[in-house]
Amino acid sequence: MAGGSDASETSTLSCAQCRKPAHLQCPKCVELNLPREGAAFCTQDCFKSAWSSHKSVHVKAQLSSIAKVLPGDQNSDLIAEGWLYCLKKGQSRTPKLPHFDWTGPLRPYPISSKRAVPGHIVKPDWAIDGIPKVEPNSELQHVVEIKTPEQIERMRETCKIAREVLDAAARIIRPGVTTDEIDRVVHEATIAAGAYPSPLNYHFFPKSCCTSVNEVICHGIPDARKLEDGDIVNVDVTVCYKGCHGDLNETYFVGIVDETSRQLVQCTYECLEKAISIVKPGVRFREIGEVINRHASMSGFSVVRSYCGHGIGELFHCAPNIPHYGRNKAVGVMKAGQTFTIEPMINAGVWRDRMWPDGWTAVTADGKRSAQFEHTLLVTETGVEVLSGRLPSSPDVFPWLKEK
Ligand SMILES: [Zn+2]
Ligand SMILES: [Zn+2]
Repeated sequence: MAGGSDASETSTLSCAQCRKPAHLQCPKCVELNLPREGAAFCTQDCFKSAWSSHKSVHVKAQLSSIAKVLPGDQNSDLIAEGWLYCLKKGQSRTPKLPHFDWTGPLRPYPISSKRAVPGHIVKPDWAIDGIPKVEPNSELQHVVEIKTPEQIERMRETCKIAREVLDAAARIIRPGVTTDEIDRVVHEATIAAGAYPSPLNYHFFPKSCCTSVNEVICHGIPDARKLEDGDIVNVDVTVCYKGCHGDLNETYFVGIVDETSRQLVQCTYECLEKAISIVKPGVRFREIGEVINRHASMSGFSVVRSYCGHGIGELFHCAPNIPHYGRNKAVGVMKAGQTFTIEPMINAGVWRDRMWPDGWTAVTADGKRSAQFEHTLLVTETGVEVLSGRLPSSPDVFPWLKEK
């Protein structure tokens, strides 16, 4: 931080900090040719104490000047307001659309600044600095935990909150709504329930849920793009409550979608249902992929291989790892008291994925569409309990559930 420069002609101005006559002018504001009012200070001390809030004036001015040199860019107003494109795991941001060999029609849009979480919400260890500390070093990355009845009860509570949060997001989906607005609903509903939105700052993820549109397979970042009639959008919600995580996602139709997309989404829903139906003690984890692969390939669709289901509980992601594709090498058998997710990602075209420059957004290699559904499950003595299952209050958004 540079000191203030002396400018005698500012003596008629008052200090932006304390309102006394000002004799110093912020040198950065002089350099950027910004108005002298609000940029004058009486002493170095006042300049220093104003700095942390004053410096945003410079950032705003620089961003709006960048926005002006991008004529015709529909995002320039957003950029001037401080929205930026995500680059490299959310740690750096850019006002210009990054360069990339995009696989389909979708493009990233600028993202809003980080949403705040009130002090009374208990936060996981990545909330402050973006780095999970307990999770990667836990023995539960290798051993599949058997939950105690007390842990199971907390998992039930947490997963019910996650379901209600996802349902709140589902209710606002229509053409014209931005994925950032979906994120706001998820963030506010999660906090209103007394929970923390687990994705927020997890390995620097910048938002409170994932929104994956059309060719995005998973981990799409909510941004300023308005949903369009004919889109499909997956919303993936995880909440942390009483020390446990609950994770689920669904893919929704925006307005009227084409027949292939309708079949893709319904097939993906059925893949998850069929996979859940085999869950019980003694079944091999690798069987889940066989069931999903059989149903997806029967409809001419392919199964994503790079992203898997996972154990969940006091950790967001832990053992077991659950591939959704056929002939996988997952080890182990299911036991009563285990909790994990199944979350098949099914593609209309090839199974291969690519990563956007933001380090998060996974897209199909051929740009064709992808759908996903996810539940958090508990293995019981006799079968399975779908902890994140639909509630009587859940919105009627899937036509195949009404037909019955
Ligand atoms: Zn999820
Ligand atoms: Zn998950």
